[in-house]
Amino acid sequence: MSENEISFIVLIILFYNLYYIIMREKKQIKAILDTEIADLLRHTEQYEQFLKEEIQCENCGKPITIENIGIVVPYKKYDKIQLSFYCNDIICIQKYYESK
Ligand SMILES: [Zn+2]
Repeated sequence: MSENEISFIVLIILFYNLYYIIMREKKQIKAILDTEIADLLRHTEQYEQFLKEEIQCENCGKPITIENIGIVVPYKKYDKIQLSFYCNDIICIQKYYESK
């Protein structure tokens, strides 16, 4: 496992933890989360797509926005790391864990 892959996995855990914090303190955390996600998406060159709401939940197909990000899943496409997303619907989060 490369250093990049490890840091992405750490980020997933971070996002997942943040998700729970947001449930409690949505407003305070939102600004931090926005920056983290924007940086990550710029890194994978998916930021434009994200702004246009072209990135969809892997399960239900709903457009992913800053408000409904549930799980971030990195994968490799043509040797580049890309991100796929599941929205924060409990059914979609469950689907992600079932598919692992
Ligand atoms: Zn979904």
